[in-house]
Amino acid sequence: MAVLFVILPVLGVSLYYSLGKIVYDSIDSSLLSRAKALATLVLSDNDETEFSFSDEIMWEYNSPKSKSFFQIRRFDGTTLEKSTSLRDGELFFPGNEQQTSFKSVMINGAPARLIDFHVPDENASKGKEHGLIIQCAEDIQDQITLLKNYRLILSLSILSILIISASGGFIIAKKALTPVKEISETIDRISESNLSERITSRHIPEELRLLASSFNLTFDRLERSFNRQRQFTADASHELRTPLSVILIQSEIMLRKERTPEEYKNALAAITEASKMMSEIVRKLLTLARLGADKVDLKTENIHLADIINKAVKLLTSFAEQHGIRINVSADEHAVIRGEQETLLELFSNLIDNAIKYNVPQGKVYIFMKKEDGVAVTEIRDTGIGIPDEDLDKVFDRFYRVDKSRSKLRGGSGLGLSICNAIVKLYGGRIEIKSRLGTGTTVSVFLKEGRDNNMHI
Ligand code: ADP
Repeated sequence: MAVLFVILPVLGVSLYYSLGKIVYDSIDSSLLSRAKALATLVLSDNDETEFSFSDEIMWEYNSPKSKSFFQIRRFDGTTLEKSTSLRDGELFFPGNEQQTSFKSVMINGAPARLIDFHVPDENASKGKEHGLIIQCAEDIQDQITLLKNYRLILSLSILSILIISASGGFIIAKKALTPVKEISETIDRISESNLSERITSRHIPEELRLLASSFNLTFDRLERSFNRQRQFTADASHELRTPLSVILIQSEIMLRKERTPEEYKNALAAITEASKMMSEIVRKLLTLARLGADKVDLKTENIHLADIINKAVKLLTSFAEQHGIRINVSADEHAVIRGEQETLLELFSNLIDNAIKYNVPQGKVYIFMKKEDGVAVTEIRDTGIGIPDEDLDKVFDRFYRVDKSRSKLRGGSGLGLSICNAIVKLYGGRIEIKSRLGTGTTVSVFLKEGRDNNMHI
């Protein structure tokens, strides 16, 4: 609008002045031809100046109603001849002008255009004052009226264009911005407590639909992550409540009255067990938090996977022996991956720990690791209790335990597999679990083999 408000008036003014110039130029050139025509009819002979004007010319200038005028003067201003159309009046004479010139003047109360056409005397010896000035004038009332009307029409047209475009622009802008306003109001309404509301795309124009659906997708993600967060906090609190209440109850009972050393010993053992459980949960939560951070700071190096697996087995050997379980390892010594010792050890010790924990007495754990098309595949197979089919896709969820009673009995918190999953994802790999109830479980880990692995960190 601002551009229109500047451009249109400038355009109008320049159009008006161009037309004015065309009109005045055409009047001036016609006046010049008339003056030249009159000059050819002036005969100078010694001191005498004669005019041989035809009837036709006389008719043009001499009618009292004629709109054309002429006056012939000497250079000093004395009039030699003038048209009858001038009646008693005279054409304006500036006196000291040396050259042919054009002016706008008033003749008998009407606007007119005037030429002072200088005709120097051919006989130079007679001096300059013997030359003639042929003045021709023409009434330009009609042309001035035409220009006035043109100016009026132009101003009105520009004004109406400005009004129409301003109001049209306003209406269009308002209409176009209404959905934006609605979108923004909906977004304002959506808050932590109201994350399920969405922008309805019914009244939204095509151009904004993409934006609205991007917002909706973002809110979907936000809602999911909020719910996950909420669930996680609830689960974590729930998990920590059990060992905490064990500690609290044991302490309260012991403090109620004097106890025997045996009773104190038992209570302290229970408290230690509960504290260990809590500290394990907290450690796993911290690991998960670290793995879930936007930027995970891993101290990567080239690692022989067989070394890590052997280390994890070594760590868990006494635990396995307690349950009479034998671990069998067969690992390719040449498989190298780029990674961090700590996280890889966490991954394999969690999986082997599960294979021992959920095994049967005197059961077996088989670990195979080999290279396959640039991928290091590790299989951890046990002869344990297995997982029911309906639980298989949930075991990677945080705090998910297949059967709370069997897990609790074995000291699980439901965080082990979700940590494994997070680690494998971090390495750009994959983890799969297959199981048959009562027969055993096989967990397969696929990690990109190579010394310059690109990790999703
Ligand atoms: P936890 O710390 O309780 O072991 P996980 O996340 O490691 O939690 O495992 C989730 C659930 O999956 C466990 O509660 C357990 O019931 C089941 N599970 C995991 N590994 C095995 C396995 N090798 N054999 C049988 N059940 C398993």
